[in-house]
Amino acid sequence: MDFELNEDQRMIKEATRDFAQEKLAPLAQEFDEKEKIPKEIYKELADLGYMGMLLPEKYGGSNLDFISYILAMEEFAKACAALEISISVHNSLVCDAIFHFATEKQKEKYLPRLAKGEWIGAYSLTEPSAGTDAGSLKTTAILKGDHFLVNGTKSFVSNGEIADVFIIFVLTNPEAKSKGISCLIVEKGTEGFSVGAREKKMGLRGSDTTELSFEDCKIPRENLLSEENKGFKLALTLLDPSRIAVGAQSIGIAQAAFDEALEYSKQRVQFGQAICNFQAIQFKLADMATQIEAARLLVYRAAYLKTKNQRCSIEAAMAKVFASEVANMVVNEAVQIHGGYGYMKEYAVERYFRDARVTEIYEGTSEAQRIVISRGLLR
Ligand SMILES: Cc1cc2nc3c(=O)[nH]c(=O)nc-3n(C[C@H](O)[C@H](O)[C@H](O)COP(=O)(O)OP(=O)(O)OC[C@H]3O[C@@H](n4cnc5c(N)ncnc54)[C@H](O)[C@@H]3O)c2cc1C
Repeated sequence: MDFELNEDQRMIKEATRDFAQEKLAPLAQEFDEKEKIPKEIYKELADLGYMGMLLPEKYGGSNLDFISYILAMEEFAKACAALEISISVHNSLVCDAIFHFATEKQKEKYLPRLAKGEWIGAYSLTEPSAGTDAGSLKTTAILKGDHFLVNGTKSFVSNGEIADVFIIFVLTNPEAKSKGISCLIVEKGTEGFSVGAREKKMGLRGSDTTELSFEDCKIPRENLLSEENKGFKLALTLLDPSRIAVGAQSIGIAQAAFDEALEYSKQRVQFGQAICNFQAIQFKLADMATQIEAARLLVYRAAYLKTKNQRCSIEAAMAKVFASEVANMVVNEAVQIHGGYGYMKEYAVERYFRDARVTEIYEGTSEAQRIVISRGLLR
């Protein structure tokens, strides 16, 4: 057993921490208030290799192993969770999907531009009536000669507003239900395809979340990703890495909230002494730190299995559900340690509290993770 990161992994963690703390953390509050992340940031991230982290150099990627990717995601989330989710969707749901399932022609067309940050990616599985039950989606894509005719609405699409390339899941064989789902690559500006208004969210407000509408939209047949009617399997394959990434996001937010709470407890004086001298506060800090460390170990272990190309659906679900619930416990306690000030927007814990909530919901709710884990145990 080896708990040490290798030299490359340590370098990625440190370099990302330095960049994220210096450049992004000071802007996170502004992104939240303005509900916008300036697009130029993605170019800067691309120049540093963060827009094609898992891609081989051949496509302009950084060729990182999955553990390094997870370490970087944790550091980004610690600085700005809204930006982290945006680049995580781009890297692990879009670039990775194209890398693993596209034809060489599709890879050459999309991957270098995605890695250079010229194009941003979005991933769209959810629909208004298909959330946890993702296999029940209703958007149809009927093959008509050299194109699919797409009709329907997709919901809650991260990066919807800023993306140039969309990975969408559609029904190509409606009778076959989840076995009739295919995956298409859609480009911004395609006739019949429109992006709805930004959702007004509780947290991760810098990251945009939109609806997508398709009205008699013609998508060329050559934009099919993988095989027809194999889309649901593709979606499930992508879930493990993206759940581990939400685990990393959760520990990043939790660590940021813990650090603020620890510092505040040393500064805040009540009854003539710093509140960190009270055992009630010390025990909160002890529990928060212990839970974060446990969550981190689960996330890193799942990332390790993924790096080794081993099956990790149960471990990814355990890491996600545990880390997201720890994050919500920690941000809650961080607000408590700040007292009334924790409820005010001038303190970052207020934002962490809002940002953490969604980690128990997206990429499969906590209930969905427990279904995956228990099914695995009972199999
Ligand atoms: C900020 C944000 C960003 C998102 N980004 C994306 C994105 O980029 N792409 C994308 O495709 N999707 C995205 N989503 C969608 C997200 O993945 C879904 O919201 C999530 O899967 C839950 O689906 P739902 O909201 O329809 O809830 P529902 O499925 O309606 O669930 C409602 C409740 O019922 C419970 N429930 C449902 N089924 C069961 C069951 N069988 N057993 C027990 N309990 C059950 C759930 O756990 C939950 O508590 C995003 C969501 C948010 C909030």
